[in-house]
Amino acid sequence: MRFGKIEENEEIIKFNLELQCVNCNKKVPGGMKTGGKYFETEEYNIEIEKFKKTYLCGVCRDKKRMSD
Ligand SMILES: [Zn+2]
Repeated sequence: MRFGKIEENEEIIKFNLELQCVNCNKKVPGGMKTGGKYFETEEYNIEIEKFKKTYLCGVCRDKKRMSD
């Protein structure tokens, strides 16, 4: 999963997030990638927290899409 900013020709950082679906609490290993300049900046940390707090697993995302 692509996260945050990746500029052209920039070094790509791969990392793993422990994600938990906010709807069904299912744990999902998140293989993520982002740009080297963005990785572990203050903005990055804020976005990671937001991302975790709103994360939906594939099943819940599909359900939401159908009900929208
Ligand atoms: Zn879910």
